[in-house]
Amino acid sequence: MDLKGKNAVVTGASRGIGLQIAVDLAKQGANVAIVDIGSEEAAKAAVETVSSYGVKAVSYRCDVSSGASVKETVAAIKKDFATVELLVNNAGITRDNLMNFMKEEDFEAVINVNLKGVFNMTKAVSALMIRQKFGRIVNISSVSGMMGNAGQVNYAASKAGVIGLTKSVARELASRGITCNAVAPGFIETAMTKDLSTENSPLIASIPLGRMGQVEDVAQAVVFLLSTDYITGEVLRVDGGIAM
Ligand code: NAP
Repeated sequence: MDLKGKNAVVTGASRGIGLQIAVDLAKQGANVAIVDIGSEEAAKAAVETVSSYGVKAVSYRCDVSSGASVKETVAAIKKDFATVELLVNNAGITRDNLMNFMKEEDFEAVINVNLKGVFNMTKAVSALMIRQKFGRIVNISSVSGMMGNAGQVNYAASKAGVIGLTKSVARELASRGITCNAVAPGFIETAMTKDLSTENSPLIASIPLGRMGQVEDVAQAVVFLLSTDYITGEVLRVDGGIAM
């Protein structure tokens, strides 16, 4: 499917994987609503980068973990773009610790952003898609949600939850012309993984392809799933083979 002229919402799009997804969508001719919680400066820079490809780009400050904030943001996006055909739920956080040292608030914060955030945004945007009888949704999960990871009970639980949510949404909305898939990245070089030591690391040795992934590797898979018509409820790993 041609993405030219389609309107996309990408959460967590002012940096990291989300920004690359927004850029790759713009390269395909899609307009992008950049949804983020962070600094005005980063959002402004993202809008400049994305719109340099000749598409419309607007940034919205939104906390995806808040239903009210998401509702307000999606209303503003509808006003600016009229329709939304593509949604990428990419915003995510980590608060890593071994379970016995993990604070309740760190468990809740991660579930609220990574899982409830996907619920909030999918509910609000799919209401528009249902009326349009068309939509493509991609949620960013993680191999942590498929394999588990010591020190990440909160994060792994949230990302496993995203897979269950993805498959349920795929079943609920298939008859409305809406597909819903997930991408599960492995270790990708972004701010989120900057503290991982990679020199002579057993982490790198455990990746069959022998390197960490780049944001472009994930964005390519997301654009593919947004462009397809007969794949739904799928989880596509982009992990150098780590979880096979
Ligand atoms: P990142 O560089 O830390 O970027 C995360 C983005 O999410 C930022 O733009 C951040 O905004 C935004 N965000 C955080 N909380 C938010 C909230 N409450 N509401 C709206 N936006 C919020 O992370 P990344 O590495 O690009 O990760 C992107 C996605 O891929 C995440 O879901 C992550 O779990 C997943 N993932 C990453 C890896 C990896 O190795 N990097 C592996 C597997 C999965 P601010 O700029 O304001 O902080």
